[in-house]
Amino acid sequence: MNTNTQTEQQIIREETRIDKIIKKRKKKMRAQVLLCPTITAYGRLYCAPRRLHRYNSSSSSSQFLNLNLSRFSGALFFHMESGTGSSGKRGMVENLKRYGVISSKRVAQVMEALDRGLFVPVGSSAYVDTPVPIGYNATISAPHMHATCLQLLEDKLHPGMRALDVGSGTGYLTGCFALMVGAEGRVVGVDHIPELVDMSIKNIEKSVAASFLKKGSLSLHVGDGRKGWQEFAPYDAIHVGAAASEIPQPLLDQLKPGGRMVIPLGTYFQELKVIDKNEDGSIKVHTETSVRYVPLTSRVEQLGGF
Ligand code: SAH
Repeated sequence: MNTNTQTEQQIIREETRIDKIIKKRKKKMRAQVLLCPTITAYGRLYCAPRRLHRYNSSSSSSQFLNLNLSRFSGALFFHMESGTGSSGKRGMVENLKRYGVISSKRVAQVMEALDRGLFVPVGSSAYVDTPVPIGYNATISAPHMHATCLQLLEDKLHPGMRALDVGSGTGYLTGCFALMVGAEGRVVGVDHIPELVDMSIKNIEKSVAASFLKKGSLSLHVGDGRKGWQEFAPYDAIHVGAAASEIPQPLLDQLKPGGRMVIPLGTYFQELKVIDKNEDGSIKVHTETSVRYVPLTSRVEQLGGF
């Protein structure tokens, strides 16, 4: 082999090496952000479903900077917006759209209309994609989880339809349901902690959903959500905001034929199940994603150690 050929081969090898480095760097730039907001409840770590969010390689640098990663409880956090008020919630929804969590225009409109800032404890980050502790060993779910559940139930939340929110907590999702089904519809929230129900009523009263509460198409009750809420059954949509070890039979009974229930199932390892009731009363179940919710349990068990 003459010296020229050797040099050419060296150059080719060097180019290949540089190509590989560039490819690796590009891959890194399409940063895969492991979205796993983690929160402690019941002395255990709880986190929202893991989702991989990829940057579009054409993202502008300002978009890039907008995603502010920080560490908390050893997990990566995804700060969607540092603003407050309407700009904060708009930023939160815009980011959920940008990262492919929200694809529905209606869901985007509703989450923009109902200010999450009115539902989280004072001083906490309302527009960050993470669950927030609300006391009594409970949390308000992360915005992407609210968005996911709203989208899964969207077809059963048309004006005039009926929805049940079990484990209504802060009342945020219950309020979203009310905006979607309107004054002709009926929305019921049930939580077994009286203080949380009082708080959720106050939250709703400050929000754009207040008129539904006043006129009676939205109501929030203290009760064991595992029994559902018979008074306004059957429901087109049932959402369960806490993880059950098995599907409570009363909830299946209160689901309308043609209706849909979204419920996290499991203890440590949990999955978000979507249950469709066919017109003949039979049910079809599919798994949406892995999740981490606080348990659907008794009041004593939940408050243990409080
Ligand atoms: N979806 C709500 C709250 C989620 S936290 C939000 O985002 O604000 C789960 C809620 O389920 C808590 O408020 C807890 O009190 C409630 N919960 C747990 N077990 C329950 C039961 N058996 N009956 C009613 N509510 C229950």
